[in-house]
Amino acid sequence: MPVNNNLSEIESFIQNNNEFLLLGHENIDGDCLGSLQGLAYILAEMDKDITIGYYQALPDILQFAVAEDLRFSLIEDEIPDISQVIVLDSSGIDRLGPAVDISQQAEILNIDHHEDNNFYGDLNYISPAAAATGTIIYNLAREFNWPITDRAAQNLVLAIVSDTGFFRYSNTDAQTLATVKELMELGADLHKINRALYSQNKPERMRLLGRTLSKLEIIAARKVACLYIDEEDYQQTGTTPQDNEGFVNYARDIADVEVGILFSRENNQVKVSFRSNNYVKVNEIAAEFGGGGHPRAAGCKITGGLTEVSKKVIAEVKNHV
Ligand code: AMP
Ligand code: MN
Ligand code: MN
Repeated sequence: MPVNNNLSEIESFIQNNNEFLLLGHENIDGDCLGSLQGLAYILAEMDKDITIGYYQALPDILQFAVAEDLRFSLIEDEIPDISQVIVLDSSGIDRLGPAVDISQQAEILNIDHHEDNNFYGDLNYISPAAAATGTIIYNLAREFNWPITDRAAQNLVLAIVSDTGFFRYSNTDAQTLATVKELMELGADLHKINRALYSQNKPERMRLLGRTLSKLEIIAARKVACLYIDEEDYQQTGTTPQDNEGFVNYARDIADVEVGILFSRENNQVKVSFRSNNYVKVNEIAAEFGGGGHPRAAGCKITGGLTEVSKKVIAEVKNHV
C-alpha cells in the first residue's frame, strides 16, 4: 500500500518552486474546476506563476464559475513547458486526456480523494476521507497558513457542494459543514452557487432531460434503473453530452432502486455513469470495464453501441444488487 508524502515535503514542493501547471481530469466537474481555481488563487496570492491546463470546452453549467482573471491553457497535443505540475481530483494519469504523458516532462504532485488513486505522482497526497478534493486544498491551506482569498473560498465551496450534491450525499459529514462555514466566513456566497448550479438550466437541456426520462427502464426486481441517451437525442435537442450533467441522479432517486445508470452514446463510445444508494460499490463495477470512481458514484467508457454496451453492463450490475 503506497503512502502519502509528509506534509513538509508537500510544503517544500510549493515553497521551492515559482511556476506551476495545474491539471484536473477530463470531463471536468465542479470539484475539479473549483479545486483548480481555488488552488490557483491561493498560489497566485503567494506570488506563484500559475497556469491551469484544460482539455475541452467547459460544460455550460460550469461557465458561471470560470475565473476570468486566471490563466488557462487549452491542451490539445502540446503541453505547456512547465516543470512542476499539480494534478487534482484525478485517480489515475490516464484521466488526463491529452496530458497523459505529462510525467515524462514534469515533476508531479498528485492531490486527490479517490480511494482507487494509484499514486502516480512524484509526490502524492491522497485523502479518501475527504468529501471533495476542494476539502483537501482547504485543509492544506490551513495547515500551511496559505492565504485563502474570497475568490479562493468561493471556488473551494463550489468544489465541495459539487461532490456532495449540495450536502445531500453520504459523504457529507460534520467536517464538510464546518469547512463550508469557515469558507463562508472568508467570503464564499453559497446561495449564488446554488442558483447558478440548479436554477439556470437551458431549455435545450430540459428537453434532453424529457427525452431521457421517457426512456426510463426499471429492472432487476426494481433494484436497477437505467436511462439512455443516443446521439440522435443530442442532435434533436441541440445539446451535447456535457448537457447531461446530473441526469443519472434521476435514475438513482427512485424508490427501491439501489443502482442508477446513465448510458450516453458519444464519439463511438458509451459513457456509463453509475450511482448507488446504500450498498453496491459501483466503483468496483466500473473498474471491471476500465473505469473507476467512488463507491457511490463511478463511471467508465466502453466502445460500442448503446444496446450492446448496456446489455453487457446490466448483466454485470445484476451480479452486485
Ligand atoms: P460521472 O458519472 O462522470 O459523474 O463520474 C462519477 C465518478 O466516477 C467521478 O468521481 C469520476 O472521477 C469517476 N469516473 C467517471 N468516469 C471515469 C472513467 N472513465 N475512469 C475512471 N473514473 C471515472
Ligand atoms: Mn471529479
Ligand atoms: Mn472529486
